[in-house]
Amino acid sequence: MLFTSLKTEQMQPMTEASAIQQNHRGDARICRGCWDQMHMPIPIRGPLALPFRAFGITRSKMNPNICTICERSFRYVKKQSHVAASATILFADIRGFTHLSERIERMRLSEIVSLFQDRCAQAIWAHDGIVNKTMGDGLMAIFNFPIIRKDHADAAIRAALDIQKHCADALGRLDFAGLGDAPLGVGVGIHSGEVEIGEFSTFRSDFTAIGGTVNLASRLESQAEAGEILISAETASEAGDLVSNAATRLLSLKGIDLPVEARVLATH
Ligand SMILES: [Zn+2]
Repeated sequence: MLFTSLKTEQMQPMTEASAIQQNHRGDARICRGCWDQMHMPIPIRGPLALPFRAFGITRSKMNPNICTICERSFRYVKKQSHVAASATILFADIRGFTHLSERIERMRLSEIVSLFQDRCAQAIWAHDGIVNKTMGDGLMAIFNFPIIRKDHADAAIRAALDIQKHCADALGRLDFAGLGDAPLGVGVGIHSGEVEIGEFSTFRSDFTAIGGTVNLASRLESQAEAGEILISAETASEAGDLVSNAATRLLSLKGIDLPVEARVLATH
């Protein structure tokens, strides 16, 4: 009780902070990443954002509720080129895309990729993740950096469920000659753990996460069938109810000697 009231008092003078809370799921007035990482109110919407824009500080393409500063916040706060962080990593891609790309025209392919990227980004942003990398028919998302979400395992799984639902709706409506009988679907892999976040290239800005956690998330995704979400035991143990009815599957993954146990959420 005491703690709660103290916290409320501390928060009250921070009108920016209340603006964030009010807009938790919507459009934040100030960058939520800079706020969470550095307690710095950086305006990203409204008239106060204009002078910042003049200095090249804009909303990040990775998530419209963060700014381009917090892609580099580790440099300003920790004075390091990268930092260790606890995060959940999500990979998604369109199953059978390579096969498909040999059979249908390029215009149609780009239409499919746009639908997929758009639906995935909306789902990831709705749960405070960032779309860190896009690779044509695939992408990588990070949860818990720079926007802090204690329930990042949960947030990533909810985003994956939204991805599956919205992609199935959008891709299911496509009717291209050459698609054949096999419906287009998306495979998702999710894993949580320690990652290194920062910029690892010396010649260009390449803010990303690296480490074994990222590799395992990617390998899980490569094993997911269309409509499936493969979740590592580590993520599942933090996620609670969301995976309580999920099946268990033993996977043999490239570069890992022992079989890896994953939970499977099948959405089709
Ligand atoms: Zn920021």
